[in-house]
Amino acid sequence: MDRPPLDLASLFLGPKAENAEVLERLLLEALRDHVFWRRNFHPEDGFEISELDKRRPGYEQSQSLLAQELLSLLGELKGGVPFFSPRYIGHMNADLTLASLVGWFATLLYNPNNVAVEGSPVTTRLELEAAAQLAVMVGYPESAWGHLTSGGTIANFEAFWVARNVKYLPVALSGAADELGLGDLELGRADGSRAPIGRLGLWELLNTPPGAALDAADGLLAAATDRQRASEVLARHSLARVGHQEYGRRLALEFGDPLPPAVVLVPSTAHYSWQKICRALGIGSDQLRYVPVDRRFRIDVEALERLLAELAASRTPVLAAVAVVGTTEESAVDPVDRMLAARQRAGREHGLAFALHADAAWGGYAISITRAADGSRRDLAAARAEAAPHAWPSPEVWRALIAVEGTDSVTIDPHKFGFVPYPAGAVLFRDLRVRELVATDAPYVFHDESPASLAAIGPYILEGSKPGAAAAAVWLSHRVLPLDGEGHGRLIGATARGALALHRRLAAGDFGPFRVVTLPEPDLNIVCFGVRHPRFAALEEANAFVAAVHARMSIAPGRPPREVDFVVTRTLLREADYGAAPLPLLELLGWSADDYRRAGGVAVLRCTVMNPFVAEPRGRTDFVEAFAAALREVFDEVLAVSPGTAA
Ligand SMILES: *Cc1c(COP(=O)(O)O)cnc(C)c1O
Repeated sequence: MDRPPLDLASLFLGPKAENAEVLERLLLEALRDHVFWRRNFHPEDGFEISELDKRRPGYEQSQSLLAQELLSLLGELKGGVPFFSPRYIGHMNADLTLASLVGWFATLLYNPNNVAVEGSPVTTRLELEAAAQLAVMVGYPESAWGHLTSGGTIANFEAFWVARNVKYLPVALSGAADELGLGDLELGRADGSRAPIGRLGLWELLNTPPGAALDAADGLLAAATDRQRASEVLARHSLARVGHQEYGRRLALEFGDPLPPAVVLVPSTAHYSWQKICRALGIGSDQLRYVPVDRRFRIDVEALERLLAELAASRTPVLAAVAVVGTTEESAVDPVDRMLAARQRAGREHGLAFALHADAAWGGYAISITRAADGSRRDLAAARAEAAPHAWPSPEVWRALIAVEGTDSVTIDPHKFGFVPYPAGAVLFRDLRVRELVATDAPYVFHDESPASLAAIGPYILEGSKPGAAAAAVWLSHRVLPLDGEGHGRLIGATARGALALHRRLAAGDFGPFRVVTLPEPDLNIVCFGVRHPRFAALEEANAFVAAVHARMSIAPGRPPREVDFVVTRTLLREADYGAAPLPLLELLGWSADDYRRAGGVAVLRCTVMNPFVAEPRGRTDFVEAFAAALREVFDEVLAVSPGTAA
């Protein structure tokens, strides 16, 4: 399939709504087409609303009110944030693809509900297709399953909900096997060996690799003389039925083996949603173990390995570990390849087994750069040729993106780096069978690949009613911008080039008495930097200065968008979270580790580049230079009015 090189100018409405005509034509097309559909559905019924009705005072009153109120709403909306502009380099927001806008609007007129196929015969299929496209991009096997969610938080939640049920499945299997007289059932172990389930203790059962647990469940049903009954017995022993409070009590009674509570391993850069999730699932946020990150804000794999050895020594089960592919603050990509290797080693040497989840809510779409148009993997040189003159991506990031195929589940947010409207997250599982561990009212089958089950979403997910319009938006966007290096990957590459150009410009200096110090080159497209001025006597003062600059470069009540030249965000690299990772930055800024400890953290300005025109402006403004100039101006302004720094 030959296609001419993609022109990124074709994708969006555009900073000045340059593509307004296209959007107008397509929206009108969608509306008119929908109108015909309504007119042709039982035309024999006639019309409920007549032209004469429309002249009635009550009708006119209501329509006038609508028109008037809409005008006020439109006026109010101008107080919003100009995400479409290359001058917006703040949060993870950007212009939306024309495809997603049109797909969303067009489908909204039909308002399908993807909780049940009955209410969404078309868009449920589109949702499963969109998720399958993401799974193919990631490199999951054909047995994968996934669906859209309202966002990354719910996707992460569901991944953990499932991971916990898979974790305790071997315990349920052990109980069921005992009851069914199938204690010889074999269970695969973390070191690659196999053992009869009846001979394994609690610690061994809780260290079953996720795939082996699902295979054993298959095996139990296959070995049982009465499959239906075996399925019921297994369900009776399952965590989903019994609940974790009662489960814990029973485990203590049956195994007489009081293991410490299972822990969850995340890098210290992990999104705060993990705290919410561990609290909501009753895991408890104390069970979150934060692994330090290195100076590029990627998880420190040696520290992870040390922690795994300690956990094995204290017989502490690991519920799951999380790799972050694109941290929310720095866009750092954890070395997923090395984390997978660490897990394998922990299995071989310590008998530890646990699920590895990739939180790629932010960076997931970047995996598209690893794919050629025919779906095969590209080589790094091909990807880098496109990113020139910048050397991007680094070999470490490249290996990590490819390694996501080895994880058990992954979260990817179309409503972030997929450039589609809210609400659209996605969760993918490498093994379709996990669905059944959380399904409502369904007997365990573990080979339920019937068309009805494969077409359904509702019974297997956390959420209820959900917008088919969001699914159509993601689906249409993937059709227009395929998930490969020549499609979506080209857009991702342009954002990285923009970020690297910005990084290079900031690092080059020329800010007068102000010293700007950047964090290392970003893995994807977020640039963070600190500021120093000779008048800052303490880090606290510098942090307050950064806060004031941020206030001046963000949109808030009382500061309309027109008065802001560029929009950025700010983040505090807290000592409690980040440990030693920001020390090189602090040193370059001239602060000591003591300053850092005393101030509690170091504040940096943060720029997320999502607009492709930052890298390659086609109008009159060089946005990178203009940003540097605007920054210098704001620095001077803020310094002049800052009470803390008045000499
Ligand atoms: C944004 C983000 C989330 C949460 O996603 P929502 O869509 O906001 O719920 C989780 N993890 C990471 C790494 C994120 O960047």
